Amino acid sequence: MMFFSLWFVPFFHFHPIFMLVSLFLYFLPAFLARHRSDFTAIFLLNLFAGWTFIGWIIALVWALSSERQGPPQPVAAPPPQPPAEGSFFCTACGKPCAAGARFCSSCGAALPATQR
Ligand SMILES: [Zn+2]
Repeated sequence: MMFFSLWFVPFFHFHPIFMLVSLFLYFLPAFLARHRSDFTAIFLLNLFAGWTFIGWIIALVWALSSERQGPPQPVAAPPPQPPAEGSFFCTACGKPCAAGARFCSSCGAALPATQR
């Protein structure tokens, strides 16, 4: 029994699974921050200061701090604005016409019937 316990203790500490778990715990802050815009900064702090316990804590707190999770949303382009009332211009003479009018009130040219 004594033989096995003495043999198992170093085996446990260098077991691949144990090493993987240790590695995962060490990089837990970077893992939690993987979708953040400042992931690189957190990862570097985790990598270089994580072995000092306080550096690891800072990286963890940073990773869990209030920036929204998930990839940054693309900024939606504003939808094209329909011409406002009275801002429709005749294609023939360039004068403003009433929206929805079929013929220009200035020159009488037929207006495109695309205005709603
Ligand atoms: Zn006109």
